[in-house]
Amino acid sequence: MNSPDQRTFSFELFPPKTDEGMDKLKLAVERLNAVRPRYFSCTYGAGGSTRERTFQTVSWLREQGIETAPHLACIGSDKDEIRAIVRHYIEQGITRVVALRGDLPSGMGRAGLGTFRYANELVDFLREEFADHFHIEVAAYPEFHPQAASAGADIDNFKRKVDAGADAAITQYFYNVDAYFAFAEECERRGITLPIVPGIMPITNYNQLARFSDACGAEIPRWIRKRLEGFGDDREAIKAFGHDVVLGLCQRLLDGGAPGLHFYTMNQSAPTLKLWTELGLPGDQR
Ligand code: FAD
Repeated sequence: MNSPDQRTFSFELFPPKTDEGMDKLKLAVERLNAVRPRYFSCTYGAGGSTRERTFQTVSWLREQGIETAPHLACIGSDKDEIRAIVRHYIEQGITRVVALRGDLPSGMGRAGLGTFRYANELVDFLREEFADHFHIEVAAYPEFHPQAASAGADIDNFKRKVDAGADAAITQYFYNVDAYFAFAEECERRGITLPIVPGIMPITNYNQLARFSDACGAEIPRWIRKRLEGFGDDREAIKAFGHDVVLGLCQRLLDGGAPGLHFYTMNQSAPTLKLWTELGLPGDQR
């Protein structure tokens, strides 16, 4: 598998909606950046719903000299829109992107108007127009994408993105370690050799996590769900238990040879840094 020094550790942010949220993000990034992860990524709302806020967040990160991977979600956009966004990023010295289909926010029925139907078409476009300028990350789903016709079809579709020129993948979050290793093994069997970096969601808020998980098809195993439900409103107990669960998950992933970890920080520094420290992750990824 991967030798420790080739592993990639990265942090994901979302673009805040308010000035107060932006101030909080800046403080969180300052703390998170102290461990010098390989890069920060920043989400993008499909159909352009967070366009300006993503731009603002990415610009600020670049001003701090931080390697930044903006997410590009293609559904509901046409080629000209995507090309303009990509050129804007190139001007800012960006060389890494996360290429996604995205999900249109409810009420935005523009899916039919976009050029792209699936993420593999976006990867094709990026390679055709921008050759090897970008290191391209794509999404992977160890527990399978909720809209996939079957597990096999989902892996076939993942392979389309790889064949189109993706360099690495980041997974949807999961709490079943076996799902990740079974997915990685099946990919290897099919000749998919790019690094598949597990996406890690710290557990800090049960209601929010349950809502997200239902929407994106990530399973919270029954024993974890039951324990979290049992803590009621006791936020500290949820955080302590959640930390132990995710710490164990990360440790098993790394021991099993995972090529790094991508933390969904939710714009908070403390839960991710506590995991980073206790896992003894490398102090400088750059
Ligand atoms: P795709 O790879 O296109 O797959 C979508 C579905 O279509 C799957 O069921 C797949 O099996 C099927 N499929 C794929 N290709 C084909 C094909 N050629 N023919 C037929 N079926 C096909 N969403 C956002 O809006 N903004 C973000 O910033 C964002 N960041 C994310 C980051 C990560 C790491 C992850 C894991 C997800 C992120 N998402 C984001 C959510 C993501 O956009 C959704 O999960 C979306 O539903 C699928 O995107 P995808 O790129 O995986 O799509």
